Amino acid sequence: MEETIEEKQHTAWIISVGNELLIGRIVNTNASWLAEQLTLLGYKVERIITVPDNEDDIAEEVGRGYTRAGIIITTGGLGPTYDDMTLSGVAKAFGLPLELNPDAVSMVKNFYSSRGLELTEDRIKMAYLPRGAKPLRNTVGAAPGSLLEINNVLIISLPGVPSEMKTIFLEEVKPILEKRVPKRAIIECGIVARKVPESGLAPYLKKLAKKYPTVYLKSHPKGHELSSPILDIRVLASSRTLQEAKELATKILSELENYVSELGGEIRERHCRSQD
Ligand code: ATP
Ligand code: MG
Repeated sequence: MEETIEEKQHTAWIISVGNELLIGRIVNTNASWLAEQLTLLGYKVERIITVPDNEDDIAEEVGRGYTRAGIIITTGGLGPTYDDMTLSGVAKAFGLPLELNPDAVSMVKNFYSSRGLELTEDRIKMAYLPRGAKPLRNTVGAAPGSLLEINNVLIISLPGVPSEMKTIFLEEVKPILEKRVPKRAIIECGIVARKVPESGLAPYLKKLAKKYPTVYLKSHPKGHELSSPILDIRVLASSRTLQEAKELATKILSELENYVSELGGEIRERHCRSQD
């Protein structure tokens, strides 16, 4: 039981809101950026879901996420227009009303008054948050983010504009998320192997994945399977210290490199990156 609660705490869902995403007009770079950030912080991103600008769809997925994850992050749909309805969807998921939040009002007011603009009804719309939510300061745009905590689950809503989404995440959300998980160091290392088809390496990858169950091991084919195989192979290891994580990743990469050589392949570009 303890274990399950612990796992839920470390599980994250990303819900992207926007018809523009579903018709293929924009690429969901917000989700991939957030997924990487969350992974490097030690969270397990379990779902990336895209929903239309529709209150019921938003409410449905947020409600599902609430039963499975400790952190839900939505992006998009916080703006002043009629189709921006993320927060009403979030409120609906929990049967909460949307309320004018005084702190959010002053954030929105400051944004416009510093540019010599009045608060209009459409602008004030951005200061309505689900009851109990806290606004997250947006230092680069108008719409504040929203942080709602229900039974230890955080529902975080960020704007869709990538620069605003990233700024609020880095300035307001990341410090909170860092405190919620015991500090773990994460490292991602990779090699590029040539002249070995993915299907040839598959049994070895399987063996390694079984031997090191805590590590995420994945091959990404880049060339052509038979005529010019190029494999980008990644190892994502986490441990209490960066040193330990690095040692683990290095050990696995060495074993992997041995297999690649045995199969007559060539290794290029061993590289690693970590959060700090
Ligand atoms: P705004 O206040 O500008 O309306 P918003 O929070 O309402 O912001 P959206 O209206 O959903 O956000 O999106 C605004 C713009 O941000 C989109 O037109 C698009 O260019 C970009 N955007 C939205 N979602 C994403 C995403 N998931 N990935 C990348 N870009 C996105
Ligand atoms: Mg909008």
